Amino acid sequence: MIVDCHVHLNNYHEEEVPALGACLERLNRAMRSNRVDLAVVLTSYKVTPGRPSTREVVEATRDQPHIYVVAGLDYYSFEPGQLRELEEYVREGKVRGLKLYPGYQFFYPSDPKWEPAYAFAAEHRIPVMIHTGDTYAQGGKLKYAHPLNVDEVAVDHPEVNFVICHIGNPWIRDCMEVVYKNPNVYTDISGLVLGEFTDRFEQYMRRQLQEMLIYGVEPENVLYGSDWPIASMESYLEFMRDLPVPEREKKRIMAENAIELFGLDRRNSLIDGRR
Ligand SMILES: [Zn+2]
Repeated sequence: MIVDCHVHLNNYHEEEVPALGACLERLNRAMRSNRVDLAVVLTSYKVTPGRPSTREVVEATRDQPHIYVVAGLDYYSFEPGQLRELEEYVREGKVRGLKLYPGYQFFYPSDPKWEPAYAFAAEHRIPVMIHTGDTYAQGGKLKYAHPLNVDEVAVDHPEVNFVICHIGNPWIRDCMEVVYKNPNVYTDISGLVLGEFTDRFEQYMRRQLQEMLIYGVEPENVLYGSDWPIASMESYLEFMRDLPVPEREKKRIMAENAIELFGLDRRNSLIDGRR
């Protein structure tokens, strides 16, 4: 089974803005051809013609139970009342987490503004995903995107599970330590490339992942994600296929961990015959 816990329905090329329906169709095609069972769509911190809101994504995917949603929150417009709308979606089982984008919006995860969001995550037992590492855009500020910042909130909120997105790349060692030390911190391996892996980079990254596991990060705390459409699902699966870790660990990373952490239902698989 394959669970991709980090995909987007955003359109990153502002010139042509395909409708959400067309993006969804592309996602479903990519999932089918790569035999991905379940996917978690992360919404953005901003809503633009190319970046649908959480509500739009929830509504567009109502009849597609193999697609789950993690709600991006906007630092500047956030107020606790927004969590009420989300609560409904969380109860339905559609929204399965929250996502923060510190490097793009210039705040630390420990900013007191997020206290209600962390309380919400604890109450509903859903994880908080945090973008870390490179910001793709020169306008991002990296000090906010450092994985060490997640240590602080993880310690102060032991009842909340956090996901360090993109293994903190390039601060992979720092990410490694934060995940190793804190039982409530996970990391996803998404977004390590734009498009496809080159051979050299693929080898380099496999070594990094292996090192992480050798260092002592539990495979239970590592999640498979691609960051599609930024990265190719096909190339990512190939990367994982040749990763020299025991099959049992790989199974956890590819699906089991995400199913447990996000509370996904494996019977919703797109691939498994039922649909
Ligand atoms: Zn992403």
